[in-house]
Amino acid sequence: MPVAAIADYDDNNIFARILRGEIPNKTVYEDQWALAFHDINPQAPVHVLVIPKGRYVSWADFSKQASTEEVAGFVRAVGTVGEMLGLEAPGYRLLANAGLDAHQEVPHLHVHIFGGRKLGPMLV
Ligand code: C5P
Repeated sequence: MPVAAIADYDDNNIFARILRGEIPNKTVYEDQWALAFHDINPQAPVHVLVIPKGRYVSWADFSKQASTEEVAGFVRAVGTVGEMLGLEAPGYRLLANAGLDAHQEVPHLHVHIFGGRKLGPMLV
């Protein structure tokens, strides 16, 4: 069920629980700002999610409330994961769903990284 992009943060959302170590995940990268792990329902040969460690539902509140350090740390983590996964040369796609129309299902900001094959055109 998609969720609104602007909403109170739910500390029991699935990614909050992953961050607290209550639910296992296949971690590919972690630093003080971000956690990256394989999506449980991959839509491409490489499908990784990168989430900030802070309590943000989506870009709406992350862009307004996160500190400059957090924003920089998160963006750098996304770039680092793309590089670590060997996707820089062949290329990859970043996607962040925000809110109902975009079908955001988990109310904790996440960036999808897709790669590992030639991707089709963007679906809009
Ligand atoms: O952008 P959206 O909110 O729709 O995507 C949520 C993503 O989180 C889905 O791709 C889903 O497979 C993934 N997910 C996951 N692990 C969970 C729950 C959801 O990787 N435990």
